[in-house]
Amino acid sequence: MVADNDDRPKQAQRVNEELYKRNAELAVRNKTLALLRKLDEISLAAVQSVEMAQKITAAIATELGYEIVSLAIVDTQADTLRWLAIASPIPEIAAIIQAVAINTLSAPLKDRLASVHALEESNPHTVTNLQEVFPPAFTEALRMNSDGRHVENSIVYPLRFGNEVLGILSLSASRDLKNLSRYEYESLSGILGLVSLALYKAKIYEDLQRTSAQLEDANEQLKGIDKAKSEFLSVASHQLYTPLTAIRGYLSMLTDGDYGKIPSQQQPVIEIIEKSAVRLITLIKDLLDIQRIESGRLELNLESMDLVTMADTLVKDLMPNAMNKKLKLDFVKAEKIPHVVADAQRLRQVVLNIVDNAIKYTDTGSVKVNVAAEGDEVVLAVTDTGKGITQEEIKRLFNKFTRVGGASRYHTEGAGLGLFVAKQMVQEHHGEVTVTSPGLGKGSTFTIRLPSEGTAKSLKLGTKVTIDIQKRQQEQEKGVN
Ligand code: ADP
Repeated sequence: MVADNDDRPKQAQRVNEELYKRNAELAVRNKTLALLRKLDEISLAAVQSVEMAQKITAAIATELGYEIVSLAIVDTQADTLRWLAIASPIPEIAAIIQAVAINTLSAPLKDRLASVHALEESNPHTVTNLQEVFPPAFTEALRMNSDGRHVENSIVYPLRFGNEVLGILSLSASRDLKNLSRYEYESLSGILGLVSLALYKAKIYEDLQRTSAQLEDANEQLKGIDKAKSEFLSVASHQLYTPLTAIRGYLSMLTDGDYGKIPSQQQPVIEIIEKSAVRLITLIKDLLDIQRIESGRLELNLESMDLVTMADTLVKDLMPNAMNKKLKLDFVKAEKIPHVVADAQRLRQVVLNIVDNAIKYTDTGSVKVNVAAEGDEVVLAVTDTGKGITQEEIKRLFNKFTRVGGASRYHTEGAGLGLFVAKQMVQEHHGEVTVTSPGLGKGSTFTIRLPSEGTAKSLKLGTKVTIDIQKRQQEQEKGVN
């Protein structure tokens, strides 16, 4: 009985101690919960890694009572640690952090042994030497400051996401961190997952930003190269054009017999030379047109023109080409087709290119040219039974120097410029060129639509129209229509 009475104060003390421990545990758990909620909010709201790291380190330092908390990312290639943020609730230390501009600091990873061990072992590492944790500029400033001098103990946590090493979270305090309670350990491992996730998210975001900036740079460079190429082509073309027209002129005088009768065995050779010269001249004209279109110097000579007559003569001109390939070339026209306001010469070039292509890319069957009126428009359609074009190819077809379906292998004559010029030219006449094809081997239809003369969309006679593709592109980029 006596013994029992004597035990009572001891039991009461044990109960008290237990209660105290439970209370402390509860307090840590509550703080951890509040911190987890905060970190979650930070991770959702901030996308920039520095801003996010500043908020995370500040929240951990205040909520869990650490004097210094830092977050650094590992650059595995350069083998360095780069600090994103260091936070401290102690004003003097906060001032040092401010002064050394923490987020510009980095240091070799191999010298920060605590970090190396933590990363290698995938476990927290406790140290009493701040130099193993922080960049030299910061430890030096801390050493000089009386408030910083007593902060000696640190725990360094590795941050990973899956197999990827992300960085280091360090917690420093003046108290001994070797014997943290189980609850404190649990609480810290709980927040690590969230911090790693937030850091990973920021990293992906920044990688994306960097990639799109690089893409933009590359795009700018490409634009520059394209411009340089156009300028080069323009100069080269001018230089080629003059001698070539002289060659063609003399050749046609030769074939006309101006210099006497040509021996019959020379006739076919001269014809080939003449054909080749004409082809070169057409190519150079296309190049020059592109250059003029791109530099905004191509002026249209507008007149009221009859597409039917134009297409009719053109079909007659191309009949020998079709017959050579044993193709049927038909011209179909509806009655009463209105005129269009256009630069006749350039429009003829566009239609010629499209009909010529239809013949060029068709081996058997027919090519049909059809002119009709549809609402306020005159529609010229060229349908062939040739190679056809895939949907994927159609998307690229009107780009400069684009040839599809192995055209460069089978037809050495083209340069992939005709359709590019056609598109720009027809657009400038307020019309459009489109193409449809049921698929490879099943033929295709190229359609040109132009507004009829006198309709609201039509160009007006007597006005000056200069093609300025660059200006239009710039306007489109700015969202002006
Ligand atoms: P090219 O000088 O090569 O003919 P174009 O710009 O006129 O240049 O045409 C671009 C490419 O479009 C051609 O190389 C060819 O691959 C394809 N193409 C044009 N017209 C046809 C057609 N009627 N049928 C199939 N493919 C065509």
